[in-house]
Amino acid sequence: MASPSKLPVPWPEDAALEVYTGGCHCKKVRYEFEHPDIYKMPVVNCNCSICEDRGYLNVYTPENKFRFTEGADGLTTYLFASGNISHRFCTTCGTSIGPMVAKRGLVVVNTRTIDNVDLKRLQLKQFDNKSRTVG
Ligand SMILES: [Zn+2]
Repeated sequence: MASPSKLPVPWPEDAALEVYTGGCHCKKVRYEFEHPDIYKMPVVNCNCSICEDRGYLNVYTPENKFRFTEGADGLTTYLFASGNISHRFCTTCGTSIGPMVAKRGLVVVNTRTIDNVDLKRLQLKQFDNKSRTVG
């Protein structure tokens, strides 16, 4: 399990956690997770091949602070490279809710799939991952 201080974007130690909900476009898959205020933390806009293709804007949470509330069986997984990152998407509408990195005990949430997210307020941080091997 990733401790919040070991996440790709570490959480401040005293950060108050909020509960966010979201899901895919057809609403078959629903999730909730805890995270400090997403508008006060950097959101990672990565340029690796899959983040670009899927439009991921990433926040990170430990595996035990994320759960599916509906329709987890409506997801399928896309693996590539080393296969360490499970890129999950809805089998009905194709929405990518974000990958799980089991090896590191963390979940990446695509902030675009959070309910009522205000994309303009996100503090995007560019991450140049293009030259690295992903996975
Ligand atoms: Zn769906």
